[in-house]
Amino acid sequence: MNDYLNIATCYNDKIRIYAANTTNICKHAQEIHNMWPTSAAALGRTLTMAAIMSTMQKAGERITIKINGGGPIGQITVEAKYAKVRGFVHNPGVYLTNNNGKLAVGKAVGTDGVIEVIKDLGLKEPFSSSTNLISGEIAEDFNNYFWQSEQTPTAISLGVLFDKEGKVSDAGGFLVQVMPDCPEETISQLEKILSEIKPISSLINEGKTPEDIISLISNGDYKLLEKVNLEYNCDCSKERFSRGLISLGKKELEEMIAENKDFEINCNFCNKKYIFTCDDLKNLLNNAK
Ligand SMILES: [Zn+2]
Repeated sequence: MNDYLNIATCYNDKIRIYAANTTNICKHAQEIHNMWPTSAAALGRTLTMAAIMSTMQKAGERITIKINGGGPIGQITVEAKYAKVRGFVHNPGVYLTNNNGKLAVGKAVGTDGVIEVIKDLGLKEPFSSSTNLISGEIAEDFNNYFWQSEQTPTAISLGVLFDKEGKVSDAGGFLVQVMPDCPEETISQLEKILSEIKPISSLINEGKTPEDIISLISNGDYKLLEKVNLEYNCDCSKERFSRGLISLGKKELEEMIAENKDFEINCNFCNKKYIFTCDDLKNLLNNAK
């Protein structure tokens, strides 16, 4: 089954729900980055959040999320462009658990830092805002982000489940957005449901679809607005890295050519290798300043 997300409105249009299954995205990310479970959980949760947030933007607008809480994982970097996500963590080899055996994502991410969200809306300057990390568990940190920087009350759940071999088995997330004129009564009704709902990754593991999850949260009374297919997609190319090399300038390129060997560049987002031979570099030199 493809990864996808559903957007629905419910409770007389006073509540909006985004629910996503991101199992394939998180499996793919773990595979290409060779990640241990705690690193894979932290990146998977952030990729899921980015996928949801990307559908709130217009097509073509890029969102970048950077999370660095000073923990052993280091920086988490995720980019999303309408329904397409890519990302990586500084340290893919983190496997930390709490006393109860659960993955210690909060400890691995840390809380000594911020979430930074950069939105490139195609204007002159990208729009950037950041909020402090609360627990490093990602979902709670994004609740705080939406409240502090967008003044929107949200309830966010993000989860990645692993099999006995430590491989991603299920992943997904939901975001519940409360409209400004939502009655108190609806909010308490919603709070009760959310306090009793199972973790999102368990729901997906039971075979629940995004529609089923929306139905659970809305008590079966919802209107589907949109279904969006989601995917892990890296749009890197040799041309793009060429532009990066050209921007280093003539002097730097001449030094590289003088070493008389091939240069290998790895894409951080998808781990694809690009080889630049001496002749490639000489060609780039003609375009450099
Ligand atoms: Zn790439």
